Amino acid sequence: MNWFKKFMNGRYGFDQLSKGMLWFSIILMVIGMFTGYRLINYVAYLILLFTYIRAFSKNVYKRREENQRFLRILNPIKSKWLSFINRIKQSKTHKFYKCPSCKKQLRVPRGKGKINVTCPECKTKFEARS
Ligand SMILES: [Zn+2]
Repeated sequence: MNWFKKFMNGRYGFDQLSKGMLWFSIILMVIGMFTGYRLINYVAYLILLFTYIRAFSKNVYKRREENQRFLRILNPIKSKWLSFINRIKQSKTHKFYKCPSCKKQLRVPRGKGKINVTCPECKTKFEARS
């Protein structure tokens, strides 16, 4: 393993973008397996190849920049997905509303009848049924 450590010295390694590319190529390979389209497999191998080229790259600054760009796209999607999952998990005990003026998502306990809600963000008051 010592030769590998020496080899990787000064090289970029793996990051979130590599992980994403790895998963994407695996998904493509599975699709290629089931559909029988060879082209899909070639694209998957190409992505895999780029993943390793990035990992062994010595231009750390540029690879970091690519990863940052990837995260700027991924993070909002991830947080939206997590809040969606959270909403489903809490849908039995809570109801969700959007503030009519600032559009912030608000959570109200279920089964309280008509209630007055005050938005914690912009202090707008509105009536809601829970
Ligand atoms: Zn508001």
